[in-house]
Amino acid sequence: MFLDLDHFKSVNDSLGHHIGDLLLIETATRLTSICREEDTVARLGGDEFVILLNELGTDPLSAANKAEKIAEKIHEVLSHPFNVGQSEPIMTSSSIGISLVGSDSQNADDLLKYADTAMYQAKKEGRNTTRFYQTQMDEWIKKRLFLENGMRHAIKNGELELYYQPVIEIKTKKIIGAEALLRWNHPEMGLIMPDEMISIAEESGLIVPIGEWVMKQSCTQFIEWKKHHPKGGEIERIAINVSAIQFRQNNFVDKVIAIVTETGILPSMVEIELTESMIIDKLDTVIEKMQRLREFGINLSMDDFGTGYSSLAYLKRLPFTTLKIDRSFIRDIMSDTDDAVLVETILTMAKIFDLDVIAEGVETVEQFEFLERHDCRYFQGYLCS
Ligand code: C2E
Ligand code: CA
Ligand code: CA
Repeated sequence: MFLDLDHFKSVNDSLGHHIGDLLLIETATRLTSICREEDTVARLGGDEFVILLNELGTDPLSAANKAEKIAEKIHEVLSHPFNVGQSEPIMTSSSIGISLVGSDSQNADDLLKYADTAMYQAKKEGRNTTRFYQTQMDEWIKKRLFLENGMRHAIKNGELELYYQPVIEIKTKKIIGAEALLRWNHPEMGLIMPDEMISIAEESGLIVPIGEWVMKQSCTQFIEWKKHHPKGGEIERIAINVSAIQFRQNNFVDKVIAIVTETGILPSMVEIELTESMIIDKLDTVIEKMQRLREFGINLSMDDFGTGYSSLAYLKRLPFTTLKIDRSFIRDIMSDTDDAVLVETILTMAKIFDLDVIAEGVETVEQFEFLERHDCRYFQGYLCS
C-alpha cells in the first residue's frame, strides 16, 4: 500500500515545517495503531508512507477485499482532526494505492511502482480515496459483480452443494461426526470454493439466506444418514460453519432453534462453528446469544483457534464446548518445535478448561501419532478424507 497525505505541502507552507513534522509523527502513530503486529508501516520520505500487509491469503479477490477494508480503516483514522503543536486542529486525508503480491507481480520494485501508480490514480480521482493497480482491478470488479449476481440465484437454481468432512475420534479411529463445507457449482465457472465466495456473500448480505440453507440442508442430511445408513447410527454430530455476519443478526438464535425443530435433529447433535471475528462485537450480546444456544442444547466450537488474538483465558469466558486447532499449527508440528509446543500447550489448557479438541488439517501419519501421544481427542484432515 502506497499512502500519501493530501495537501500536505500546504500544511508545511502555511504552518511551518515543525507542524508538518508533528503531523507526520501523528500520522505514523495512527497508522501503526490500526495495523497488525505482522504488518510493516514505513515512511518512505516526505509525506509518503508504505504499508506492507502480510498474510492476506492466496485468493486475489479475497486479498483485495481485505486490503480494501484496511484502506477504509486508514481513511477513517486519518479523518479525525489532528491536534498538533499550538495550531488549530488540522484536517487531512490520504490517497492510497494498492498492489498485490502474486497477481500484480512477485517483484518488490514492481509492486512499489504499481502501488505508486495506483496512488496517483487515487489523487487524480479526487483524493481521500483508494485505488488498486488498474489492470487487475478491472478484472476483479467484473468477476466480483458476476459472482455476486450469480449468487443471488444459486440457492434457487440448486447450484449450492455441501461436502462433508468426517471428524474422527483418535483413540477409536471411528467417524463420530462431520463438518459441512460449502461448494458452489457455477454453471459457467465450475466448482467455486468458499474462500472465493464467502467474502462476497458476506458483503452482499447473501450469507444470511445461504447460511440458512446450509444449516437446513446439513441437518436434513444428518437425519438421512441416521435413518438409512447402516453406520449412520454411530455418528454423533454435524458441524456447521457460521459467519460473523450471520451470527450478528438479531434473530440468529431463533432461526437456529426453528431449523433444528423443523428438521427434527436433536440439538445435542448440532455443533455450530464460530470464529473469533464474531467476538469483536459487543461481548455481552455475544455471550448471551451463545448461552441461549447452549441452553437449547447446541454445541459451540471455536474454529481456527490460534490464528487470531484471543487467548485461552479469554475463551474461558465464552461458553464454547469445543476448540478446533487451526491447520496452520498442525502443518508444522513435526518440523517446528514452537508449533509442537504450542499444540501441546493448547491441549493441556483445553483439558483444564474442559473443552474438547479437534485438530484440523491432519495430513500425515506422523501428525496423527503426535496428536495421539498428546491425548488429542479428535481430528479432521486429508489423512482420512
Ligand atoms: P474451515 O472451517 O477451517 O474448514 C476447513 C477447510 O480446510 C476446508 O476448506 C477443508 O477442505 C480444508 N481441509 C480439510 N482438511 C485439510 C487438510 O488435511 N489439509 C488442508 N490443507 N486443508 C484441509 P474449504 O472447504 O475450502 O473451506 C474453507 C473455509 O470456508 C472454511 O474453513 C470455512 O471458514 C469457510 N466455509 C466453508 N463452508 C462454509 C459455510 O457453509 N458457511 C460459512 N460461513 N463458511 C464456510
Ligand atoms: Ca470450520
Ligand atoms: Ca477451521
